[in-house]
Amino acid sequence: MAGNGTYRIGGEGRSSQSSFEKLTLPVRYVKGVGPRLSALLERKGLITVEDMIYFLPRKYEDRRVVKSISATQPGVKETIVGEVHSAQIRPYRRRKVFEVRVADETGTLTAKWFHGNYPFLKKIFERGRRVIFTGEIKGFLFEKELIHPDFEVLEEDDDQLLHFKRIVPIYSETEGLGQKNLRRIMKHVVDDFAGCVLSPLPKDILERQGLQDISQAIRTVHFPEADSDIEGLNSMKSEAHRRVIFDEFFFFELGMALRKKGTLLQEGVPLASTGEGLKTFFHRLPYVLTAAQHRVIAEITGDMEKAVPMHRLLQGDVGCGKTVVSMAAMIVACENGCQAAMMAPTEILAEQHHRNIANWADAQGLKTAILTGSMKTSERKKAYSAIERGEVDIVVGTHALIQEGVKFRKLGLAIVDEQHRFGVVQRALLREKGPHPHVLVMTATPIPRTLAMTVYGDLDVSVIDEMPPGKKPVKTKIFYEKERRRVYDIIRKEILKGNQVFIVYPLVEESENLDLRDATRMAEHLQQDVYPEFEVGLMHGRMKSREKEGIMDRFLAKDIHLLVSTTVIEVGIDIPQASLMVIEHAERFGLAQLHQLRGRVGRGDIPSYCILMSGHPASDVSAMRLRVMEQTTDGFRIAEEDLAIRGPGEFLGTRQSGLPDFRVANILRDGRILNEARQEAFRLIDRDAFLEQPEHRLLKDVLLRRWEGRLDLARTG
Ligand code: ADP
Ligand code: MG
Repeated sequence: MAGNGTYRIGGEGRSSQSSFEKLTLPVRYVKGVGPRLSALLERKGLITVEDMIYFLPRKYEDRRVVKSISATQPGVKETIVGEVHSAQIRPYRRRKVFEVRVADETGTLTAKWFHGNYPFLKKIFERGRRVIFTGEIKGFLFEKELIHPDFEVLEEDDDQLLHFKRIVPIYSETEGLGQKNLRRIMKHVVDDFAGCVLSPLPKDILERQGLQDISQAIRTVHFPEADSDIEGLNSMKSEAHRRVIFDEFFFFELGMALRKKGTLLQEGVPLASTGEGLKTFFHRLPYVLTAAQHRVIAEITGDMEKAVPMHRLLQGDVGCGKTVVSMAAMIVACENGCQAAMMAPTEILAEQHHRNIANWADAQGLKTAILTGSMKTSERKKAYSAIERGEVDIVVGTHALIQEGVKFRKLGLAIVDEQHRFGVVQRALLREKGPHPHVLVMTATPIPRTLAMTVYGDLDVSVIDEMPPGKKPVKTKIFYEKERRRVYDIIRKEILKGNQVFIVYPLVEESENLDLRDATRMAEHLQQDVYPEFEVGLMHGRMKSREKEGIMDRFLAKDIHLLVSTTVIEVGIDIPQASLMVIEHAERFGLAQLHQLRGRVGRGDIPSYCILMSGHPASDVSAMRLRVMEQTTDGFRIAEEDLAIRGPGEFLGTRQSGLPDFRVANILRDGRILNEARQEAFRLIDRDAFLEQPEHRLLKDVLLRRWEGRLDLARTG
């Protein structure tokens, strides 16, 4: 921001610059926070005033009504204030119980603890101290009791209205920093700094969405008004929460909208299809395309004929047939005299794609080349010059494609397969191999819709939501180690039927984790001791790519019946006669990965199975995850479950997924708000593409600051 960046709004005299500065102040600038507290806060990741503002209560307690002890009702959750009469540790059956007796003018009550740090509690409940208790009243003979109540001790100088006779915020505590102390600090934060949060949304958005003032919303989420709905607050669904969450999503989506607009303003090469190439191509296919495939091909060719570069994500479950769709796009590019490139994450997959593509490309009179890291220098040089001179129409490769030496004569279409396996930078590098080529990225990682919107917020999305006909879902079952014999019998039966089997291991060679059966040893064992009559193959990541290719060829030719492998076969591989996938140590894999692996079978029309081997019924979470695999083969449901079990942070592994970290908003819980915020943001950018109108200047300031501070542009899209 050039100049002093000062704007006055609403006559309050707030300026954006000074507000921004106040928000970045270290926490020790908050009243009541000295060096000791600021160190404790920092340990919680609360470094600046702004961090504190977005440190929301984890729950709220209803202490609006403080009852006199005599008026409390058994079975009801009540709050009382009383004075400590006695505190003692007493024997209770064979254990000990800690009891505190408190009294007010109307009666007495005993609070009990059956476990906990009794000496610590004893110190807290000094005789004569005033305490607040909240909990469900139990009637025990003639005495009222509270078991393990929530409590706070009141000091002489406490602003009592902060801690009771109201809805009280409960923050997540750290050692040395108790609830009341935190609450007191937060009150100062809110009183002194809530007004510095700027969210200058256009009036029509505020009205349409029914949004309150942001500063007011922040005050309310910390210290709700007395008439608030406590359940709404506790589920983070209050209007004030909605305002704060909307704000976070809105600025994120506004950034996405701007980026997307930026792409739209680039000049691309329009590549219109004559229809001829596609017609012959479709005609030659050994199958009929599904309606979904036709639809997405139309979406893609529709994009390509525009002068704006395509930026499209093609999403579709494992085995839905994305490859053939990408081939259709390549044909259109080549028809227009352009080159097409396809990048795949592994050599095996690149080889497979190249084999398939070369097959039909020859028939169409198109030339293909492959580029991988393991090619000899002389081979690579040859490929480089053919690509540069335009003697090659289609190039398939691994990361080798984006090396500096690779130059295209005229790259019109860049395709990234299994794009989640690539970083943002690698995708950008491929794009830079041409003058604003059309870009198609493909993924089978089934990302739930809400997530897709944030991860790929600046891409258009096409979805293949239909499987090729005749494909039967892969039946899946968990087996435990003690059932290994049975699994071997199942494998034998499958092979005797003329089918092929994969066994996948998480590790290549013996490692420190001795309990892991490694692929190498197992392949030997299976060949010698279990299946001497069959051909057992082995493939792992440390093999040379020639070796791997050789093994894949033999497997495809049914020379190998049983292929023991590490996860190098995870993505994309297509072996029609493989009908059984056995995954060892299944609990060690992520659901998305299991789904990918399972996708390696059931690709022909033979009934297929997946066996998940698990050492023993492991932790609840991993058992739950494996059960999801048994229950469904729907990649989207699996992703939703995975997300629900692991939370958005861990889903896909944060770094790789490019998920932004939101502070308050939660993509899962707040999907609806995300949707609304996205629509509003995109609508606004449609009206004012660069936020240049004077009434949007402050908005743009805030946007730039938010993206700089919290939302890393490079990590998304
Ligand atoms: P993915 O979407 O996982 O990349 P592929 O493109 O590898 O899936 O396709 C999986 C298999 O389905 C391939 O063997 C492919 O030839 C086949 N296939 C694709 N489309 C159809 C269709 N419409 N009908 C029948 N088989 C199809
Ligand atoms: Mg694929």
